[in-house]
Amino acid sequence: MNHSSGTLYIVSAPSGAGKTSLVTALTEADKHIRVSVSHTTRAMRPGEQDGVNYHFVDHDAFKALIEKGDFLEHAEVFGNYYGTSRSALQQTLDQGIDLILEIDWQGAQQVRKLMPEALSIFILPPSQEALRERLTGRGQDSEAIIEGRMREAVSEMEHYAEYEYVIINDDFAVALEDIKAVFRANRLLLAKQQQRHGALLKQLVG
Ligand code: 5GP
Repeated sequence: MNHSSGTLYIVSAPSGAGKTSLVTALTEADKHIRVSVSHTTRAMRPGEQDGVNYHFVDHDAFKALIEKGDFLEHAEVFGNYYGTSRSALQQTLDQGIDLILEIDWQGAQQVRKLMPEALSIFILPPSQEALRERLTGRGQDSEAIIEGRMREAVSEMEHYAEYEYVIINDDFAVALEDIKAVFRANRLLLAKQQQRHGALLKQLVG
């Protein structure tokens, strides 16, 4: 093997922290980083692509995967099934590609139990005031709705200490450099470098 296997990352954040923008910019900048594609039984919507937005499967195929124990986690949402397949993850990791699971703290706890080698990153806003501003939208929502979003965000943030890395998204460009640095540093770990550069390392001390 002339590449090392990829690393599984869990990325969580309260809504309003800028997680989706950061992850999108990260995967656009580095083709060795991808976001995990879930399986679903729901019908494909116009513009969606099999294997890109989801792996679209029928109920029988989904059930067979459940029975095989292939799902790291799965759930029923509005009558359709959704889940994260362990074999799909593994296939991508085996190609040397780092994979991101964008999940909340509860999903993160489940995945850590099943894949303890996964690394996790929590993205935070710079302050409660900034978060409130980001959750206010275009000023069309009532105070009660904004307060509800704030409470939800705070209850997600209460779990930040369960994560290995914490990124504060104040300046987007800085936060993007920070998350890139996490991925880059982990590729330089001894075990990964030994997989990637085994022949060179042997030769250098031969
Ligand atoms: P949609 O059908 O609009 O793409 O997604 C519906 C809901 O399913 C969303 O809340 C989405 O977060 C959730 N969902 C998508 N993929 C997964 C998954 O792999 N596992 C779980 N538990 N929920 C998912």
